[in-house]
Order: sequence, then C-alpha cells, then structure tokens
Amino acid sequence: MGKLNVAIMRYLTSEDFRVLTAIEMGMKNHELVPGPLAASIASLQHGGVHKLLRDLCKHGLLSYERGKKYDGYRLTNMGYDYLALHSLTRREIIGSFGNQIGVGKESNIYIVASSEGEELCLKLHRLGRVCFRNVTNKRDYHKHRKSASWLYLSRISATKEFAYMKALYDRKFPVPKPLDFNRHCVIMELVKGKPLCHVMDLDDVEALYDELMNLIVRFADSGVIHGDFNEFNIMIKDDEKPVIIDFPQMVSTAHENAEMFFNRDVNCIRTFFKKRFDYESELYPKFSDIERTDALDAEILCSGFTKEMARDINLELGIDVEVKSDEEPEENNPEDTKEEVQDCSVDEIFNKMKIKNEHSFKLDSDQESNDSFERFES
Ligand code: ADP
Ligand code: MG
Repeated sequence: MGKLNVAIMRYLTSEDFRVLTAIEMGMKNHELVPGPLAASIASLQHGGVHKLLRDLCKHGLLSYERGKKYDGYRLTNMGYDYLALHSLTRREIIGSFGNQIGVGKESNIYIVASSEGEELCLKLHRLGRVCFRNVTNKRDYHKHRKSASWLYLSRISATKEFAYMKALYDRKFPVPKPLDFNRHCVIMELVKGKPLCHVMDLDDVEALYDELMNLIVRFADSGVIHGDFNEFNIMIKDDEKPVIIDFPQMVSTAHENAEMFFNRDVNCIRTFFKKRFDYESELYPKFSDIERTDALDAEILCSGFTKEMARDINLELGIDVEVKSDEEPEENNPEDTKEEVQDCSVDEIFNKMKIKNEHSFKLDSDQESNDSFERFES
C-alpha cells in the first residue's frame, strides 16, 4: 500500500483531461476507442490528439490495445481515478492526497485532506472487473455495455453508497459524514478508530452487543438492511462507540429475501461476539420485531440512484433482483432503461467539459460493426 500517485495530475493540461473524458465517453459504446473517434469526441485536431493519447498511455492513464475488429484506447483504473479526483479537486473538496489505509473487497481507501487541511477518507469503488459471480445472469444483462461495465458498476456502487450514507447520516445514524462523490469516488469523514475485527477486548462487551443489535433494528424500522454487518464494516472509536461503514450492498426490508439478509446480519454479530469475546445472549432481534416507521429505502430511489441502477448493482453483488409485492409492475422496456442510465452520466460529463453532445450519439453499437475505423499508428 502506498501513496496515490497524484504528482502527475499537476502536469496534466485541460486538453489531457478533455481527451481522457473523450475516451470515457467513447467507452460507453466501444470496447476500444479508436484515435480518430477520440479526436472527434474531444473536438480536437487528430494530429494533436495523437501526441496527447501517446503521453496518456505513457503515464498509465490509458492503454492502447489490439481488438478483434480494430485497435484503440481504453481508460485504465488510474485514468478513471484521475478523472474523478480532478473533478473533486476542482470543486475544492480535496486539497491533498495521503496514504492508502485499506484495501477492501471492492475498494481502495485513502486518506486525503480538504483544502482546509482536515483529514478525510477517499473510497475508490472497483467493481465488475475480475468477478465471476452470477456470470450467466450478468452476461445477458451486461451484453450492451461490454467493457464499460466496470466504469458503470463502479460508478453506481459509489452513487448508491453516497445516497445511503447521506440518508442515514441525516437520520443521525452513526455513519461517517458523507461529503461528496464523483464517478466511482466517495469522500467522507475519516473515522478515528479501528475496525471491530482488530478489537481484542472491550470494557463493556454487552453494551456494544446491545448497541449493534439496536442499530440493526433501527435500520430495519427505517426500511433498510445493511447486508454486510460484520466486524470489518464496524469501526470502533476510543469510547467504544460503533460507526458503521460500507453501504453498496444495502437492501430494502421490502426485498423478497429481506428476512434472510436481516438474519444474516444478526448472526454475524452473534457469531463474532461468541468467538471473540465469548459472549452469548438469548436476546437478539427477529425480523418479525420490525416496526416500520420510515421509508429510507424509498427516499434513496428518489435521490438520483435509480431503480435500474439498484438492479444492476444488486446483480453484480449477488443480491437477487428486487421484487416488491406492494408496487406496480415496472414498464418492461429495457431499451429506455439503458438510455436513461447512459444519459445521466453523459449530461454530467458534457456539463463539466462543455463538449457539444452531437458526437457521442453519432456512433452507436450498430454502426460500430459497419464503420471501419482508420487504424491508429502508434
Ligand atoms: P469494502 O467495500 O471494499 O469492504 P469498506 O468501506 O469496508 O470497503 O472499507 C475498507 C476498509 O477501509 C475498512 O475496513 C476500514 O478499515 C477502512 N475505512 C473505510 N472507510 C473508512 C472511514 N470513513 N474512516 C476510516 N477508515 C475507513
Ligand atoms: Mg467492507
């Protein structure tokens, strides 16, 4: 684990970022983005773009690859990181970068500082890359998105995390204060404490056990289940108070498997307390104890985190597609859905980069097979 290599960011010009963004946009419909297409999306001269592309490859932000039909560029993880960090830096959310503090299952975690010097936590979501869960389900669903699905999935994971963290924080749940997000990056308060898995003894084991079980119930009364409520996602502060983190897998209590998710969270705590602290209690919450007092789950779906996004991320995380019995059936139009999902990020990018949007819609996947792109000589 080391520092985020951000020194290079200082040397990148606005044209570099324009080209990186053009590749990001091109990747919505193309596995590899040919040089001339990048030049056209970026509205820059082909000759000039050639050198920019080459330098971006040299710095590891893009890679140039040989495809079956044509060769072209794709964003690397690092390239995507820079796009997000660039936006967050311009918004003056981040002032400087520090060390990596964690590698999660599906993320990298860094300490960063605000422009006022306050230490914050940066979480880079990484989904949809080397993952073979639900391959058969996913193959069908993601066939339109091809290689861009890791961009898309990482972005919705961050969007979902931010939306839940904000709704929970607003309700005074003990979660880090969410500060901002962009693409696959979430910026939140840095929790001063250590994960429960590193805590060997406690002054009051029973108090923490009760507090955690009460939290599970409070979540459920609000309409949600954490879904990964374990010793890795519970931070313990010096005063032995818990702070809950890691929200991309949260589900509604209206999910068809809600009871199973709820019991799994409860059992994680029971099992851990028995193993680590030799503590067992007859008292633990049951799904039937829940008294719904809030609709946090519904609020999330109004916050820009759409149903389609929810479905896609759940599929990726192995949570079955949500079926809510108390709801009208959704319109069955997968094509509309796809467009909606793509539009929202295209708009975001256009706003930032002020690129005219005529180019991005010129080429769709049908045209891709008919057009023969000029080979890019590198
Ligand atoms: P993943 O989804 O990959 O499991 P997590 O959100 O659980 O990612 O974060 C991974 C690790 O990073 C945590 O176990 C914790 O040690 C650290 N971490 C995450 N968020 C924070 C935070 N806000 N403050 C301090 N440490 C954090
Ligand atoms: Mg975690």
